[in-house]
Amino acid sequence: MSEFDIPLDFGDPAGLETLREELRAWLAEHPLPERRPAEEPAEFLHRWHRRLHSGGWVGLDVPEEYGGRGLTALHQVAVSDELGACRAPGVPRIGYLAHALLEFASEEQRARLLPRMLAGDDVWCQGFSEPGAGSDLASMTTYARRADDGRGYTVNGQKLWTSYAQYSDYCLLLARTDRDSPAHASITAFALPLDRAGVTVRPLRAANGDDEFCELFLDDVTVAAHERIGAEGDGWRLAMTTVNYERNALDTGHLSKYGLLLERLKHELRARQGEFDGGLVSAVGRCVVDYQVLVAHSRRRTAERLAGRAAGPESSVDKLLMTRAEQRLYETALRVLPDELAQDGGAVYGEYLYSRAASVYGGTSQIQRNIIAKRLLRLPSASRTS
Ligand SMILES: Cc1cc2nc3c(=O)[nH]c(=O)nc-3n(C[C@H](O)[C@H](O)[C@H](O)COP(=O)(O)OP(=O)(O)OC[C@H]3O[C@@H](n4cnc5c(N)ncnc54)[C@H](O)[C@@H]3O)c2cc1C
Repeated sequence: MSEFDIPLDFGDPAGLETLREELRAWLAEHPLPERRPAEEPAEFLHRWHRRLHSGGWVGLDVPEEYGGRGLTALHQVAVSDELGACRAPGVPRIGYLAHALLEFASEEQRARLLPRMLAGDDVWCQGFSEPGAGSDLASMTTYARRADDGRGYTVNGQKLWTSYAQYSDYCLLLARTDRDSPAHASITAFALPLDRAGVTVRPLRAANGDDEFCELFLDDVTVAAHERIGAEGDGWRLAMTTVNYERNALDTGHLSKYGLLLERLKHELRARQGEFDGGLVSAVGRCVVDYQVLVAHSRRRTAERLAGRAAGPESSVDKLLMTRAEQRLYETALRVLPDELAQDGGAVYGEYLYSRAASVYGGTSQIQRNIIAKRLLRLPSASRTS
């Protein structure tokens, strides 16, 4: 058995099947919402988030004292599965921010911030990347200057690609608090309320038509000491915890979505036999293999979580696999379903466009390969030739 092998033993957590039945019954009574005309995708998902929370379906593996249900990662996965299987929008993608707060926030902050985050009362965004600091996050220059009386900070700088900041109440912000120490010891995290004076949010339009990204300008923004998450200099570790959870394959909601699309592709191939060349048929076959590999990975990550193992650099493997699966699936889908492309705006076309971003968000594919080489395979850095 190699150091990467994890036995797939899920045990038999009590009540898992009952939980699935409860969710199916709840979904039968609470039909899936329709997106209203003129409702932005983010607003629609927020409405769904709040509805799910009202039924008790958000934060299943978060302790009860912080607004969750105190169950396990396996219960969370079961909820994602059930939602995906009935074509519901997925669970809100807040798990990785919640994990960062669980690990680094003080008891008072966890009790105050997490229940509102899970309920959707406060929407959060992630303020890590900057115009000159994406892959090389450690080179960020946003600076939080500590006040002489030690009670707070004044923050100046700019963040970029801050997803959905225009709909958010809080930003999990990284800033440098010391310009002299090495980068990895001088970055600090803050829970910044976005209505604070000096914060300007400017949305940017993406290729799929969504206003997902934002620029965030911070001009003499005052942040109190009690809004700091963790100690000064903990920000780098917090960032790595956040991205490890962001990259891993535990959110199976999108897997159900892939599975449903694959079923549709297989159905088309059978219904229109002879219309497709062998290359396209084998491309669908490759998508099926990608999908099955991802399902196996998701089971493996679930087993790790149940064994109490935190997400680590192996999440980079998941991120690469998810990126390949998603990009290949939507490329192939457009070839099998050309009408979707002609409709320009069909659901599959929208997903295809968004899949292009998978090799960039949460860290690019090149960076994931670097992490695998250095942290998992422990390969030496490439030597420079003079
Ligand atoms: C849809 C989407 C949502 C996002 N949401 C957020 C968000 O909410 N919050 C946030 O903080 N950020 C967010 N990001 C930003 C994302 O994390 C960065 O875009 C990403 O880390 C890459 O940084 P960059 O864009 O500055 O590219 P660069 O770092 O400038 O990279 C440019 C190219 O150089 C390559 N490269 C760079 N360094 C190396 C190296 N050492 N070895 C090999 N190749 C290298 C990269 O792989 C890439 O191909 C989002 C991005 C996208 C696409």
